[in-house]
Amino acid sequence: MKDLPVIGKDPLGRTIKDFTVMPWWGIDRKDIEWYPTIDYDACTGCGICFITCGNRIVFDWDKDMKKPVVARPYNCVVSCSTCGNLCPHNALTFPDKEYMQEIIIKEKILKKAADKLKEHDLI
Ligand code: SF4
Ligand code: SF4
Repeated sequence: MKDLPVIGKDPLGRTIKDFTVMPWWGIDRKDIEWYPTIDYDACTGCGICFITCGNRIVFDWDKDMKKPVVARPYNCVVSCSTCGNLCPHNALTFPDKEYMQEIIIKEKILKKAADKLKEHDLI
């Protein structure tokens, strides 16, 4: 993986990198609307999502609200939903599965996957 631009530190002192420069299957990351959305009525500010997402650092922390904010949505790993799975209050949502399946068809990703496997003599 090429060196990614460093864009700062988060409130926990962790280095924030700009993952948006990495295309996903050749698609500009910013053309894929995959990231968590916070339901602030359900969120209690437990911090699990903010702390857990320690590589991509998608979240910042709003000190006034005492809750997370989705500060770098396109740093989110496409199709990851770890923070949503861990949220004890189901306060995080993502696009539905069909959204990604449509992209896979539209962008001919099945063929790209097959080409990659063939390139390595795996099929
Ligand atoms: S894990 Fe859920 S409840 Fe906890 S801070 Fe994140 S969104 Fe809020
Ligand atoms: S889905 Fe994964 S990468 Fe995206 S914000 Fe949650 S933990 Fe981070």
